[in-house]
Amino acid sequence: MKILRRDFIKTTTALAGYLLANWLTPFKLFGASSQDSPKLKIINRINNSEAMIRTRLNRGIILLDFTEFAAQNNYGIFTNSQKRKTVIYIGQDRATFTAENGFVILNEQLLHFLQEPLWENGELWVPALVLADVFSKYTSHQMEFDQSGFTFSIGQKDVSLTNIVMSAMENGTLIHVFADKEYRETEITHKISNDWFYLEILGGKVDPKSLEATPCKGIISDIKVTSFPTIISIGFKLKKPVISRDIHLENNGREILINLRISDTLAVEDETKKDLEEQKKKWLIETIVVDAGHGGKDPGAVGYDGVKEKDIVLPLALKLGELIKERMPAIKVVYTRSTDVFIPLWQRTKMANEANGKLFVSLHCNSNPNKNARGFETYFLSADKDEKAKDVVLKENEAIQFEESSDKEKYSGVNFVLATMAQNAFMRQSKYLASSVQDAMHQRLQVLDLHSRGVKQGPFWVMVGATMPNILIELGFVSNKYESKILRQKASQVKIADAIYSGIEKYKKDIESAI
Ligand SMILES: [Zn+2]
Repeated sequence: MKILRRDFIKTTTALAGYLLANWLTPFKLFGASSQDSPKLKIINRINNSEAMIRTRLNRGIILLDFTEFAAQNNYGIFTNSQKRKTVIYIGQDRATFTAENGFVILNEQLLHFLQEPLWENGELWVPALVLADVFSKYTSHQMEFDQSGFTFSIGQKDVSLTNIVMSAMENGTLIHVFADKEYRETEITHKISNDWFYLEILGGKVDPKSLEATPCKGIISDIKVTSFPTIISIGFKLKKPVISRDIHLENNGREILINLRISDTLAVEDETKKDLEEQKKKWLIETIVVDAGHGGKDPGAVGYDGVKEKDIVLPLALKLGELIKERMPAIKVVYTRSTDVFIPLWQRTKMANEANGKLFVSLHCNSNPNKNARGFETYFLSADKDEKAKDVVLKENEAIQFEESSDKEKYSGVNFVLATMAQNAFMRQSKYLASSVQDAMHQRLQVLDLHSRGVKQGPFWVMVGATMPNILIELGFVSNKYESKILRQKASQVKIADAIYSGIEKYKKDIESAI
């Protein structure tokens, strides 16, 4: 498998299949220890060096010795053993990796990956695939992990302008453009037109995508790169009028420094703070939507002794909400229903979006003609489905039959594909949330003799359209005599809600420790 500048969104499905195959095996899911694996050949095309470094295999994921990787390639590295974090400095770029955390901070961007670094023998081991992706996709560096040849190559994209770094100053903004060739002042022109500052460089070569991903600061709100046959134009969108500007070259023409000054001195600091807050806010989980499945005329699954799914999930949802409010008072809990009423599936995600929800958790119970079937499982939304998930998906989507006929049009096949594509942006987080909750339930519900059936994916209507990470939990089988009894008991409902809570809490903590 050759992975080069892979577009994660487009290939999420393929990758999800690969990872899921590894995740779904209970042994691999819960047995976390890694093993030695062959040494990885690092080919550095920039300084023409080669080295062999140690790797480990964990849950089918190849991790490399990060310290050794940095040393062999002369990259700066800083490790905080207590926080189990390592920062690597490559050229002008800086990336922070954290053990057992899928979030990577590149410069000031927060990226999320399914594969996580591992802390072992007092150092950090980083997934080779993630490392290659972080640098190839978002910087001017070229990194490629060839899993079949077991090589990792490092190069530089064919660019002459490698990086842009901005700093907000008290009276304006400083833009630092880094080049890997020497420029002369005569090769650079600049102008301001329609709220944009344009820097035009003769003979410039760039990777527009990575430059446009530069975090904006101060009075700059956007970057647009345009290539002409002999000139590169980099446009910087201005939030405020610039009263003066100067440009000069440093480091023998390898650095272009632009100083944009504004009159309004105090406002800039506030703007910068606001920008950072806004970036962080995107990731903060302030509102959690708890969705009790079915209700009213829709009983959901009817199980042993005539117990109805809708009557089990409602008190459980309320208990979960109560725990969240009690233990994380800053978080707002929104219920799609708090009584025995019928709510169409499409309306549930609409409510969640309108409430500005940051997580959507839908609670359900399973049933099966086979009375021995038992266990809990957590789903995330995907147009693909596991073969075994088919029955569950059909059962949950059946709730549509209770809806008004005019509503049913909302669920045509075409809509579904479009809607799940919109959800792809949250798929990685949803999957991570699903495994975090499933894991917590596995650890905490053994006392009730409830078993994990793993994390699965499927096209559930109730999750479509939510613009936030979302999961659907099948708490157990109402068709099973033992589980229908347990699911009805108040004391065990508290334990189940507590387990789900701790999965959500871990997810929240992981995100916040990475920010
Ligand atoms: Zn259900």
